[in-house]
Amino acid sequence: MLVSRLLEEAAARDPDKVALASAEGHASFADIDRASTRLAATLKARGLGRCDRVLIFLNNSIEAVVAAFGTWKAGGVIVPVHPTAKAPRLAYISKECQPKVLISDTHKLPVLQADEAGGTLPNHRILAAAEGATIPSDCLSWTEAVEGGNDRPVEPGTIDVDLAAIMYTSGSTGRPKGVMLNHCNMVAAVESVLAYLGLRRSDIILNVIPLSWDYGLFQILKAFRVGARLILAESFSYPARVLARGRDEHATGFPGVPTIFAVLSRLRDPGKHACPEVRYVTNTAAALPPAILPYIRMVFPNARIYSMYGMTECKRVSYLPPEELDGRPRSVGKAIPNHEVFIADDSLNPVPPGEIGELVVRGPTVMMGYWQKPRESAEVLPEGPWPGERMYRTGDLFRMDEEGYLYFVARKDDIIKCRGQKVSPKEVEDVLYAMPEVAEAAVIGVPDEVEGQAVTALVVPHRSAQLTERDVRRHCAAHLESYMVPGLIELRTSLPKSPNGKIDKKALMSSARPEPEPASETHPKHPVVAE
Ligand code: ASP
Repeated sequence: MLVSRLLEEAAARDPDKVALASAEGHASFADIDRASTRLAATLKARGLGRCDRVLIFLNNSIEAVVAAFGTWKAGGVIVPVHPTAKAPRLAYISKECQPKVLISDTHKLPVLQADEAGGTLPNHRILAAAEGATIPSDCLSWTEAVEGGNDRPVEPGTIDVDLAAIMYTSGSTGRPKGVMLNHCNMVAAVESVLAYLGLRRSDIILNVIPLSWDYGLFQILKAFRVGARLILAESFSYPARVLARGRDEHATGFPGVPTIFAVLSRLRDPGKHACPEVRYVTNTAAALPPAILPYIRMVFPNARIYSMYGMTECKRVSYLPPEELDGRPRSVGKAIPNHEVFIADDSLNPVPPGEIGELVVRGPTVMMGYWQKPRESAEVLPEGPWPGERMYRTGDLFRMDEEGYLYFVARKDDIIKCRGQKVSPKEVEDVLYAMPEVAEAAVIGVPDEVEGQAVTALVVPHRSAQLTERDVRRHCAAHLESYMVPGLIELRTSLPKSPNGKIDKKALMSSARPEPEPASETHPKHPVVAE
């Protein structure tokens, strides 16, 4: 089944029901279905062919949802890019996946028009205009693209084993890697998650997760599958406001990640912001820090809390049934329905319970591979027990207890897992080295109760340079997506080296600032998540 069927079926069942509520307005299933059909016609008319890529660079908005479904209806492949992405990353992704069309909005013009991006972006650009903004003459306006389209559905020409999405994630080489998912992968993920989450038509999901990340994107897909409604918020930067909106709009579900939940603990009187109608809360990407649980319970007093784990390469790995949470608060549970996981040694043999090994995943959500990276793909997708089957070697070190519950231990490579997102130290170091004042730089992940690992930069300025931590932070914020910007920056006079002159990261790990207080601490002290 093609992913676009999820919308078409919802629109056939429940045309007038409000599917999306955004700050700009509401859209029914029929509205979204109609708009995406028209956009598909425009995309086809502009030459989008089977499995051509469409770069979607938008904030959480109705347009972003229509852009994805319009692409699928036209037989294309979505490539969502995080709304805070800077020109170099956008350019890298665009160069690598060669999109036919870019869909964005006028707020993003400074990034789109930056020198680094210019030559790499596709000629066909569709831009939604912010109020009062003008669309550059070489771009098609969103209104024209949708209204100028035809109401007659176009033939996508794709089948469900075709590529549907390329989701970019950080790689250890410092270059983002495009995770390729086909329609089967995506629909299988929707079915599996729905099987344990029990989402209903009456549910109203308060979504603050970026749609450019699979966790956000799948909120839409799941909601459409059951005919539920989704409230689209752009971020959780103003938690009180978002929660008030959730209350006013009778939200029943709240997906979050540890950093989002940590924000609840910094509200002056968390109970004052309670959303009593929320009946379920989900946490993924990184294990839920037990210290945050009491705050989640204050704000969502009637919610079942699902602690889960996942990665883009296979969407979701595991979930802990809510009734198990108090008994094993640090576990991320067991494999999601229709999936199998095991902990393996280097030869991929299962290790006994209690031993640490690499988490390996089997199931229908395992990705097709990384876009144009056959070698890296083969490394992480070894053959499974059945002919043609590929398993996913996650690179995450885990432990499984006697009863089969999973516990995250660490990463195998030097990738940093911050807020559940992979951050390549190399990518951040490259940005630091671009500062003329920087002589040496190293980026490491320091264990952190809330973030999983805090991105930490150790920087040695040139002897005569005038450099402050603030300068470094500002430079990083200007060149990196928000979650990659180091939370901790230390200026040093030198960095430890191995005998062959390489920066010794192991030594750095032990000399970097100490690990924050353990789980019993009641007041996590981390900055408000801004994405
Ligand atoms: N797949 C997501 C990740 O990249 C999380 C999820 O939805 O479980 O971490």
